[in-house]
Amino acid sequence: MRRIRKGPAPPELERWKRDNAHLSVGWGDLPGDVKRAWRACLFTEQGHTCAYCSARVDDDPLRHHIDHLPPRSRTPRADHFDHGNVVVSCEGREGRGAETRRKGGHCGGARGNSALPVTPLDDDCEECFAYHSDGAIEAAGSLTQGQRADSTIHLLKLDDKLLTVRRREAIREALDLVQASGQALASGIEHYGRPDQQGRLPHFGFIAASVLRRMAGIAGGSPASCSLDPHGG
Ligand SMILES: [Zn+2]
Repeated sequence: MRRIRKGPAPPELERWKRDNAHLSVGWGDLPGDVKRAWRACLFTEQGHTCAYCSARVDDDPLRHHIDHLPPRSRTPRADHFDHGNVVVSCEGREGRGAETRRKGGHCGGARGNSALPVTPLDDDCEECFAYHSDGAIEAAGSLTQGQRADSTIHLLKLDDKLLTVRRREAIREALDLVQASGQALASGIEHYGRPDQQGRLPHFGFIAASVLRRMAGIAGGSPASCSLDPHGG
């Protein structure tokens, strides 16, 4: 799970909050244009990737949503509009509604009203999960981190079969690219951690970089600033 560093809220949201400070507004009252500006801001913060699985989230509003880290059902209304409380998440399934909900899914489409033991805003979230070249995810870190990670994998269904296959495909593509280009692992790690000119990170780029880092024998650290021996271990 890639760590997200929150920036300031978009001015459109701050303005709307100021203008409506005297009213008891709910989530449904948030105007579409303010929501769009907020979503764009979250996309930028997250490199256009899902906060939980690192899949690229496209601009189709049916495929992702603004996800509240402390669930809305457990927090006062005023907190629902706090930029520091939200991320963009994929739905983990095609479309929305009761029918598609029955088909399962992962990430924001799976968690419901559960509080997450590990969130992408936690300082240690990147240490809590390990990814394997076959696409599998497992809990990592200390005993406590592992327990938090296990619950989080379960709540977000990060071990979903289809998601695992998609991760595996992205990892294989990364490995093929590194091999075909004769690049050192370091260049691959740098490539998969770097956004393009539109600020978009590669699809599952964080996961691919994480697997390449493991292969290079690096436990963590910033991919862009790593100085490493590709044959080290
Ligand atoms: Zn996701």
